[in-house]
Amino acid sequence: MQISEIRVDGYEKVVRCKDPASGLHALIAVHDTTLGPALGGMRMLPYANEEEALFDVLRLSKGMTYKSAVADTGLGGGKSVILGDAKLKSPALFKAMGAFVDSLGGKYITAEDMNIGVADLELVRSATKWVTGLSRDAGGSGNPSPYTARGAFHGMRAVMEEAFGSPSFKGRRVLIQGVGAVGGRLAELLKEAGAHVIICDINEARVAELSKKHGYESVADATHLDVACDVYSPCARGATINDTTIPKLKCKAIAGVANNQLHEPRHGDILRQKGILYAPDYVINAGGIINVSFELLPGGYDEAKAVAKIDRVYDNLVQVFQIAREQKVSTHIAADRLAERRIAAGKTPAATTKK
Ligand code: NAD
Repeated sequence: MQISEIRVDGYEKVVRCKDPASGLHALIAVHDTTLGPALGGMRMLPYANEEEALFDVLRLSKGMTYKSAVADTGLGGGKSVILGDAKLKSPALFKAMGAFVDSLGGKYITAEDMNIGVADLELVRSATKWVTGLSRDAGGSGNPSPYTARGAFHGMRAVMEEAFGSPSFKGRRVLIQGVGAVGGRLAELLKEAGAHVIICDINEARVAELSKKHGYESVADATHLDVACDVYSPCARGATINDTTIPKLKCKAIAGVANNQLHEPRHGDILRQKGILYAPDYVINAGGIINVSFELLPGGYDEAKAVAKIDRVYDNLVQVFQIAREQKVSTHIAADRLAERRIAAGKTPAATTKK
């Protein structure tokens, strides 16, 4: 196994691993560990070349630094990528990946991401202890999705307060695109809180099943933006806030869990100009990573403590909205400023990070 360093400005450590015996070719980027070890998922994709993989791992690891800083997990940001087709997975490949992760001595802690499942992580775990997101049976915190939904629900209370002057959902129309693991649970929480929930998904059978079970209104995915609502909640895929969709929006606020909702940063500015409140995705969807971070506590995972902190996604959004108001900037910029403020505070000698 050959491990070599790639020097990248602004990143603490970027390393490459090539292991001819297992066929592993992977990169790990540790962006910033000011607030704690760099946690971030591992993904496996058939990148065209190492340059493309490097671009991805750098971008994603930096995003994790910001996400963890705002979520106050006491963690830094990192990410890893395995170059290759997921069809070529093998136990040897993941054991080698485990040894690669282990070579950083805990500076980087891995988790699930695209094309990586719990079975793969268990193989990684056989070669390093620096793995999170395993099943409850294996001492992990289990499936993050219900926790992401819970955090998003509490974040939406802050959105309601900012956009409508009250955290109440009573009678508010919330349109959810994507009722999978997170969106499906979020819909239930919103309905319980008195919202009028409207759902859409490319999986029409799922929409029919959930509408029948919970009494949601439903709309075809192709025409969902024709529906007027108080809050639009993208919970399916990224880049759905773009030049084509923004003119069609009939909502006062956008608050959903999909990653990278803004096609480009300028779309956040356009939303602000149009008076649509945007809950930055990485702030409102942090419930899952907050939950995982509790695996790293000395006594191991503690659900009650994790949930108390997940509910504070509300406070994080209140702060983001306050910065946006005071500094007259879009909320996606305000979120970055909150992250940068917390990282800067972490660099001062007196700084402590509490769970
Ligand atoms: P999921 O795969 O369980 O659900 C996604 C749902 O969206 C599915 O029902 C799917 O049919 C639907 N969908 C996909 N493409 C669509 C499209 N073009 N139009 C309409 N519906 C479409 O995924 P999830 O775990 O619920 O995650 C949803 C989003 O939230 C993803 O973007 C994910 O990256 C992000 N996210 C998830 C978590 C988590 O804890 N699971 C945490 C942070 C962010």
